[in-house]
Amino acid sequence: MSIILDGSPASEGIGSGRVFVLDWGVPVVPHETVAEADATSEIERFHEARKWAKDRLFETKEITEARLGSVEARIFDPQILMLDDAEVVNGTVRYIRENRLNAQRAFEWRMLELQAMWSRASHPMVLDRLNDLEDLMIRVLNRLLGANDPMDLEGLEESVIIVAPNLTPSLTVHLDAAPVLGIATDLGTRTAHWVILARSLEIPAVVGLGDVSKRAVEGQQAIVDGRIGRVILDPDEHDRERFQRRQRRIEAWEGEIAVIAKQESVTKDGQFVELRANLDLPVEAEQARLHGANGVGLFRTEFLVLGRNTMPGEEEQFEAYKATAEAFPEGAVYIRTFDLGGDKFPMFLHMPREENPFLGWRAIRVCLDEPELFRTQLRALLRATAYGDVRMMLPLVNDVDEIRQVRSLLREEESRLEADGIPFNAGYKLGVMIETPAAALEASELARHADFFSIGTNDLIQYTLAVDRTNTRLAKLYNPFHPAIVRQLHQVASVGRAAGIEVSVCGEMASNPLAAFLLLGLDITALSVAWPSLPEIKKVIRDVRMEDARAAARKALAAPTSADVTRCLVEGIGDSVDLKVFQGRWSLSLPE
Ligand code: PEP
Ligand code: MG
Repeated sequence: MSIILDGSPASEGIGSGRVFVLDWGVPVVPHETVAEADATSEIERFHEARKWAKDRLFETKEITEARLGSVEARIFDPQILMLDDAEVVNGTVRYIRENRLNAQRAFEWRMLELQAMWSRASHPMVLDRLNDLEDLMIRVLNRLLGANDPMDLEGLEESVIIVAPNLTPSLTVHLDAAPVLGIATDLGTRTAHWVILARSLEIPAVVGLGDVSKRAVEGQQAIVDGRIGRVILDPDEHDRERFQRRQRRIEAWEGEIAVIAKQESVTKDGQFVELRANLDLPVEAEQARLHGANGVGLFRTEFLVLGRNTMPGEEEQFEAYKATAEAFPEGAVYIRTFDLGGDKFPMFLHMPREENPFLGWRAIRVCLDEPELFRTQLRALLRATAYGDVRMMLPLVNDVDEIRQVRSLLREEESRLEADGIPFNAGYKLGVMIETPAAALEASELARHADFFSIGTNDLIQYTLAVDRTNTRLAKLYNPFHPAIVRQLHQVASVGRAAGIEVSVCGEMASNPLAAFLLLGLDITALSVAWPSLPEIKKVIRDVRMEDARAAARKALAAPTSADVTRCLVEGIGDSVDLKVFQGRWSLSLPE
């Protein structure tokens, strides 16, 4: 009997394969003692697990070296050394001999002891070793408990469906190198950053499944349908046939993409819409171009630094930004400065654990406090302006003073470049993302200092509605059609228009067809969406009339509830777009 689980569609596409359960947490170790006579064999078991972990780490190191280079591959060295460390080895052996603990319990005790000791230190080097220590515990304890290595992905011989309680952006970066056909998680939402990254990596994903990680069994067959948000465990013949039919339909749609990519993004009544792409990784620029993007509306540069233990240098960043600009010689390329914190923590920054990271040390706040990190990025960005229409965009700005500080840093870096004779285009644009209610309410002030606005609805919605964008339980409350959101969008668009600066939207909302219709109606005619959504949104743009969108937006602005907003838009769009196609993916509650 197949088991059907419904969650939230998170990354389009459909995949079928065997389940690989990835649970990146320290496993629970039952308390067990052994007879004195068995101590020697327990010690052997411990040494075997140690050797196995070392071999695995060497293998992973080799793969990482081939893919990312030798500097990155050194990330595994501390763990390799720790496996031979006398403090670790002798301590564990002593607990087996003296306390008659079995190997896993003895190793756990010793590691917890070291963890407590090192936690009292404040030196970042020692604190860094705590992460290594935890990773080692996960690997070695799973081995001793007879479970799989949770991260043994690169060595997989066949492609798999990853099933996990949840993921993080840095774990997801690693999935790039592994043969992964789909992801199914208990938690997560469409706007969590690891999910955004999964979309960029083109891995189909369904999130918010509740207990899939408990129900799925390692090795079992599964289908992940990222378009309608469904996971089928142990699919039967009928499910498999439907899967193949859907796959054929997707392939046929892919055939159409090339045609749509060449068409102009113009509404039925002649309004040109700037349709740009969101990129998480520089390599996506090519896909964005093939899918018909006019430029790049958001390049999330922080994905250049995640999963690494060193900061990317100026040269490496410059090459990435320059290549992106060169991929779009005719279009603008909006590169956002590092948006770290929230749910993105690079290893080299030693970011403190915070109670509320999304309300914490995040985005522009981190950059202004870390001048070495920020100046390097600004220099690389300035240099890239010589190779295209590169625009710099600041995340999570609340206050004009933040823009002033960045302009001042930029002036200093410009002088240094001039002194060094390095070219840049002094006429570049610097703008801000509108991501908080404070920024929306302060828009007319910000407009005096910014060359453009780009509305980050993913954050604007979470901060306006006080709904954590990553919290599955609250997913139903995360509503882009809440009247408070519609009114803020209208306010920011009007301020931008009055100030003569471009207002675009680069949050996920822009790839929701009904929301795109609303944005057009609010006269926001620059949209940026993840590249896989470009053809669909272009089709929506080409199928609607600005006149209808404006009339629907006027009604939506006066609507008292989210349901009323949705109703106005659905009525306004009429049958020009078949919303049923999108209903599953966007949980659009369409009126009967
Ligand atoms: C947003 O907040 O809408 C946005 C585009 O930025 P991110 O999703 O990277 O936070
Ligand atoms: Mg944001």
